[in-house]
Amino acid sequence: MSTVHPKLIKDVIEQTPRAMVAMLIVSATFFLIFIKFIPFTILLTWFFLQLLLAMCRCYNAKMFALNLEKKDQSKLNSNETIFIVLNVYQAFMWTVSSVFLIIYAHQPFEFVGFILSIGIVTAATLSMSSLYRAYLFFFFSMITPQVAIMLYYGEYQHLALLAFIIIYIPATILLSKSMLNSRISSIEAHDELEKSAEEFRRLSIMDNLTNIYNRRYFFEVAKGIISMASREQNKVSLLMLDIDYFKDVNDHYGHQGGDFILVNLTNSIENLMRESDIFARVGGEEFAILLNYTSLNGAKVIAEKIRSTIDEKNFIYNNTSIEITVSIGIAEITDSVTTIDELYKKADVQLYLAKDNGRNKVFPV
Ligand code: GH3
Ligand code: MG
Ligand code: MG
Repeated sequence: MSTVHPKLIKDVIEQTPRAMVAMLIVSATFFLIFIKFIPFTILLTWFFLQLLLAMCRCYNAKMFALNLEKKDQSKLNSNETIFIVLNVYQAFMWTVSSVFLIIYAHQPFEFVGFILSIGIVTAATLSMSSLYRAYLFFFFSMITPQVAIMLYYGEYQHLALLAFIIIYIPATILLSKSMLNSRISSIEAHDELEKSAEEFRRLSIMDNLTNIYNRRYFFEVAKGIISMASREQNKVSLLMLDIDYFKDVNDHYGHQGGDFILVNLTNSIENLMRESDIFARVGGEEFAILLNYTSLNGAKVIAEKIRSTIDEKNFIYNNTSIEITVSIGIAEITDSVTTIDELYKKADVQLYLAKDNGRNKVFPV
């Protein structure tokens, strides 16, 4: 079975309870109108079977919802098969109601049965077009017995109704198909919009070149982490990292060579990060790493690991090995350093001490 778009399945899940309430209202009306003609026990059995069907359909919708959440495609396919079987059964129940009218009520009530079937199959266009295969099964299971009944009588008025059905079939099939197509187009447009919104959000928080967080987002997230840490009494530290003599890299290897270093340095540092760390590009060749649940001493170990990893690494650009070093300043949240701005300023001061002390250093040591 081909995969049906999850939103089309959601449509069916949403519409099923409403469709079942409508089906039971029509069944109850049928019951009350024809109680005079059809034997009570037969009519009551028929009504209870309709009730049972409504319950099965609602249970089927519940299973659809459950398996949709689990994204279990094979179970969704089974749900669709059960949905088709239940709808063929529903069509059979309505055909039985038409047969009752023929047996017990005769003309003109057989026309009531016919009109009822047409009404139901038309109303189902709304609730079932989303599962198109199931709708086609339902449609033909409803219409075929009506055609057989009309042919069986073969009188002038029955043949006229037959002609009506012949016009009605393609018109309704086309209507349901066009409803499905417009629903699919609106789903696709919505998906496209969601994708653009997601991309827009990604662009607004990520740095284009290195694909890590940008400065604006770093400050936003850091604010939240620091206020949570002060409530929970967690340690938070910040590393400020700047590439040493990066201008020389640009001068020797061009801007593209510089960009290559920025991207590959980012990847190397990312491999050393934990899930809870926030890594961002905060300037041209400056990076900030917020270390949640980490004291100054813990931060020193991580900073030294980053420094030595970069120091030992050879970045191969256009068959040339480029060696770079980084300087890192560290600060932690204390009673006198309580905000991201204060933390940033303090780590920056440490970074410049690392630079002044010969670069390729972590400060404080
Ligand atoms: P220091 O050791 O003092 O940090 O020296 P430095 O050369 O790294 O520092 P400086 O601030 O003098 O130079 C930084 C250079 O980074 C200058 C700028 O052209 C370069 N730069 C900034 N952003 C980018 C970028 O996105 N791509 C490239 N390729 N270069 C960049
Ligand atoms: Mg630099
Ligand atoms: Mg710099």
